[in-house]
Amino acid sequence: MNKEEFTLKDLPGVGPATVEKLQEAGYDNILAIAVASISELTNAVGVGEGVARKMIQTARSKLDMGFETGIDLLEKRKNVFKITSGSEAFDTLIGGGFESGCITECFGAYGSSKTQIANSLAVRVQLPKDKGGADGMAVFIDTEGTFRPERIKQIAEAVGIDAEEALKNIRIARAFNSDHQMILVEKIEELITKENLPIKLIIVDSLTSHFRAEFAGRGSLAERQQKLNKHMHDLMKLSANYNVAIYVTNQVMARPDTFFGDPNEAIGGNIVGHNSTFRLYLRRGKKGSRVAKLVDSPNLPEAEAIFYITESGVRDEE
Ligand code: ADP
Ligand code: MG
Repeated sequence: MNKEEFTLKDLPGVGPATVEKLQEAGYDNILAIAVASISELTNAVGVGEGVARKMIQTARSKLDMGFETGIDLLEKRKNVFKITSGSEAFDTLIGGGFESGCITECFGAYGSSKTQIANSLAVRVQLPKDKGGADGMAVFIDTEGTFRPERIKQIAEAVGIDAEEALKNIRIARAFNSDHQMILVEKIEELITKENLPIKLIIVDSLTSHFRAEFAGRGSLAERQQKLNKHMHDLMKLSANYNVAIYVTNQVMARPDTFFGDPNEAIGGNIVGHNSTFRLYLRRGKKGSRVAKLVDSPNLPEAEAIFYITESGVRDEE
């Protein structure tokens, strides 16, 4: 049996009901099983540890776990682009801009500039590559109803893009609940493959608000994480398959002082943190500035950048 033919239902101990549960939890292919942990699978689908171990072992043995040559990787990295935020300091913090093929998460209190960063990116992705853009369009999933076309116009004019063009190049959808939000993400693939739109940036602002509201009780925490897990998997797949940059926001409570500045308090906790390649904590700084702090990103040192929100969006100066 070659790896194309081998699917979830072929795993030992996995019947149709388990296949369905796996898929619902975001484990919809052999690779997802191969890289899962035993506890992830027992939690997600209620199989025993032994079965979970067997599933993972089989998935790994069936998969070419893929040793690519350095040349292959270099070739892939050539297609990676980075969208400028509008601030050099901010871009430098994350290795040159919001990178395609991965997820960047900003979390912070209300007013910390999560949405303003989204607006700046939605405009700047439209710039040519030599100006920090990707000659592309943006998809904006707005869960809080805070998207303002007027603000896009303002930034576009400052950046030198025709305001009407800028608005045409942003596809906006308001998500009314978490299920709706997840379906909208599933639909993005069609925009790329069927409508052939050059989508280069996907924004989910905010990733977590509906999940937070709908799964308020402690009892439903596991279910919330499971859905959030699938949602993040869907986003990751889009970013990897279509070389798209993904920006998600995550609102957290303002903290009384920095001694309580544990970034893992962000809703979604490990699930969101684990999947985002770049994770930034935003806060208000001195004299109207904003501070972005890079947290637990494996490839870059922890550091901070100071930036401002101006009429023209994210900038280095007021
Ligand atoms: P969050 O999404 O993190 O809750 P926002 O991105 O909405 O926060 O940030 C709101 C802040 O952005 C406002 O408090 C204001 O300081 C700043 N801001 C918004 N619009 C403008 C503008 N046109 N010019 C300058 N600053 C702005
Ligand atoms: Mg906001």
